Amino acid sequence: MTEEQLRSSFINATDDELRRLPMPGLRESIWEEREYLGWRDMQAAQLGYVSLWQGSELVSIVVRTSGSLRPGIAAMCSMCHSTQPATQVRLFTARFAGKKGLAGSSVGTYICESLSCPMVIRRAAPHMTTPSQLERRGGAMLERITRFVAKVADES
Ligand SMILES: [Zn+2]
Repeated sequence: MTEEQLRSSFINATDDELRRLPMPGLRESIWEEREYLGWRDMQAAQLGYVSLWQGSELVSIVVRTSGSLRPGIAAMCSMCHSTQPATQVRLFTARFAGKKGLAGSSVGTYICESLSCPMVIRRAAPHMTTPSQLERRGGAMLERITRFVAKVADES
């Protein structure tokens, strides 16, 4: 995966957002043990980025956080379904691609604040991280995130 490939895979980014897109470390092994690639923006705390493969096509979206949950309450990430302290799960919104997005419309979902669900599920308790459990949880997570990205891409 090249920088150019990554940059051109964004479906809902403005020119400005693309210009300032911070690159994740693009090492060879980046897709190993990772159903999707998520990273946050050190320079703009509210911004995050999510990339995943749909067949041979890389698709990426810009997301932004809007507030956090009340501390002290456990929350569940809508992608990996891990239950976490509420401060570690955030409401992220993604501007729709196309006209709807230009009109300011967006869609939201709760995701692990770090946008690193693939790591979160691999750090779970031993009985949750057997190869078959990881395959099941990883597959279900990929389906959910694919569905979310499809929603963002929907131009209707
Ligand atoms: Zn998660």
